[in-house]
Amino acid sequence: MMAGFDVEKIRKKFPILLRQVGGKGLIYLDNTATSQTPVSVVDEIDYLYENTKANVHRGVHTLSQEATDRQEHTRRRVQGWINARSFEEIIFTRGTTEAINLVASSFGDRFKDGDEIILTVMEHHANIVPWQLLQRHKNIKLRVVDINDRGELDLEQYRSLFTPHTVLASFTHISNVLGTVNPVKEMTEIAHSHGVPVLIDGAQASPHLRPDVQDIGCDFYVFSSHKMYGPTGVGVLYGRKELLESMPPYQGGGEMIKHVSFEHTTFADLPFKFEAGTPDFIGIAAFAKAIDFIEETGIDNIRLHEEELLHYTTEKLLEIPGIKIYGTAPDKAAVISFNIGEAHNYDVGFLLDKMGVAVRTGHHCAQPLMERLGVPGTVRASFAAYNTFDEADRFIEALKRVAPMLM
Ligand code: PMP
Repeated sequence: MMAGFDVEKIRKKFPILLRQVGGKGLIYLDNTATSQTPVSVVDEIDYLYENTKANVHRGVHTLSQEATDRQEHTRRRVQGWINARSFEEIIFTRGTTEAINLVASSFGDRFKDGDEIILTVMEHHANIVPWQLLQRHKNIKLRVVDINDRGELDLEQYRSLFTPHTVLASFTHISNVLGTVNPVKEMTEIAHSHGVPVLIDGAQASPHLRPDVQDIGCDFYVFSSHKMYGPTGVGVLYGRKELLESMPPYQGGGEMIKHVSFEHTTFADLPFKFEAGTPDFIGIAAFAKAIDFIEETGIDNIRLHEEELLHYTTEKLLEIPGIKIYGTAPDKAAVISFNIGEAHNYDVGFLLDKMGVAVRTGHHCAQPLMERLGVPGTVRASFAAYNTFDEADRFIEALKRVAPMLM
C-alpha cells in the first residue's frame, strides 16, 4: 500500500460509496464507464443553482457576470491542466463523443473522395462512427491498426499505413477495454513526419494522467468530465488554434456569432465559434472542482494507487480456473477485462451485482475489438482513486463464488 495515500480520507469525500446494493456495501468497479463525484463538486452545483444561475456571456447583470466568470475560470483551469497555449484552444462540448463529432464534421469538411483516415482496432465507437458518417457523402477510406497478443498496437503496421492520401490519424490514448496506454507522443511524431494531423481520444487517459498537449504535440485532444470525478454533460475539445481557426462552425445558433442578418452572418472568435447555444455552464463551472480534487489528491498518487490495485487484483484473478484476461501490456491502466471459461459475461456481472459488486459487461462500445478478440463481450473491472485492496479482495471472493455456478 502506498505510503501517504489515505484512501479512507478520499472515500469520505464520496457519499455514494456508503450505498448498499443487494444488502451489501457497494463495491464500485465501473469507473471506466463513469467515476463517482466528490461532495466538493456536488456542493458547487448546488451552490450555483441556488445562488448564481444566469445565462453566460449575455447579460450585464451581476448574476450573469458571475456565471460567466465561473465558466471561464474552468476554461483557464483546463488550459493549465493540459498545458494548452491559449484559452482559445479549449472548446466545451457535451463530452468526448460530441468533441469527436465536432472535429469529424468541421475538420472533416475539407476531406475529399479517396482521402484516408488511420484508426486502430481498439477504438471506442465514438472514434469510429463519426468518421463513418462522413462516408455518406464522401468516399473516405478507414485504415485500421491491429494489436498484438498483449493488446499493444502494431507500430510497424501503423507506420506502413500512411500514404499521400492520409488526412488524419485518430487513436485512443488508453483503451477502455484492454487498458493499454498507447505511445501517443511517438505516434504523433510519426503522423507529423508525414504531414498528417492527429486526434487523440483522451476519455480514458484523463482520469489517470495529466496529458500535456504541447509535449505530445497532438492537434486535437478530447475528453469527458464525468470520467474525471466531474459532472455529466461536459467535455473538452482541445484543438491547435491555427487548425480551429481554419475550421467552419459545427453548429449554428446563439453565442457563436458576431453579427447575424438574413443575408450574411459573421462568426464569433475562438473558442465561442464552436459553442453554439446555452452550454451546461453550471456543469462546466463545477468541473473546476473536479480538477481541484484530482490536483489535491495528486494525479501521480492516483495513478500509482490504481497500478497497485491493478497488479494485486490481476494476480488474484489468475488463481481462478478458466480465467482469461484481455490486455496484458506492461504499460496498462487499471482496467481488467476478462471472461471465465464459457460463462457469459452478462451472467457473471448479474451475479456479482447481487453481491454488491458493480462491474461492466458486454462489448464496451468496442465491437470491432470484440470481434478481433473473438468474443461477444467481456466482464470489466476498473479502478479509481477511492477503491481499496479490501474491495479487490471482496470482488475476488465474490467471483470465486460465482464462477462454479456458471461452469
Ligand atoms: N472514448 C473512449 C475510449 C471511452 O471510453 C468513452 C466512454 N466510454 C468515450 C470515448 C465516449 O465518452 P462519452 O460517452 O463521455 O462521450
